[in-house]
Amino acid sequence: MDFKSKIRVIEGFPKEGISFKDVTTLLSDGEAYQAAIKACLEMLEGINYDVVVGPEARGFLIGAPLAVMAQKGFVPIRKPGKLPYETIKHEYFLEYGSDVLEVHKDAIKPGDKVLVVDDLLATGGTAKAVCELIEKLGGEVVGLAFLMELDFLDGRKVLDGYKVLSAINYE
Ligand code: 5GP
Repeated sequence: MDFKSKIRVIEGFPKEGISFKDVTTLLSDGEAYQAAIKACLEMLEGINYDVVVGPEARGFLIGAPLAVMAQKGFVPIRKPGKLPYETIKHEYFLEYGSDVLEVHKDAIKPGDKVLVVDDLLATGGTAKAVCELIEKLGGEVVGLAFLMELDFLDGRKVLDGYKVLSAINYE
């Protein structure tokens, strides 16, 4: 399937100079959504993982259906104050300022093999922070899977040492 034709591109969102990949147009097309999840599963063949972890919010939209199809559990990573049980936090630094991610402290067990899933890899800052959070709990990140990757931002460099896979590439 030509996935790119299903993804709407919005120029200048959220700010000037950014060409935003709007995945909602793919998600609202049942055939395309299922094909996209299948394409992600196919690229993961040979990777052995126990659990799928995805950051809010679009990471849920790819990670959760992928986990269901792979018969794995899904662990959500959230912005502060959203998770009801005890959490561990991780602060990470962006171009301007910093951000915090949280996960339930019992959601990942030491030695768990974790697959990180998100909709899009841009600079890699979010994914790197997710990996660091998982590793704080003793989890082992065995791979990262993205539906889309913006090749020109070199997010892979930030994720050096990890296995990084993506189904759709924008050059
Ligand atoms: P990064 O941390 O790699 O710079 O940015 C990736 C994160 O920002 C992902 O969680 C992703 O959902 C979001 N993101 C950044 N740019 C885009 C975009 O063009 N389209 C979509 N759908 N998400 C984006």
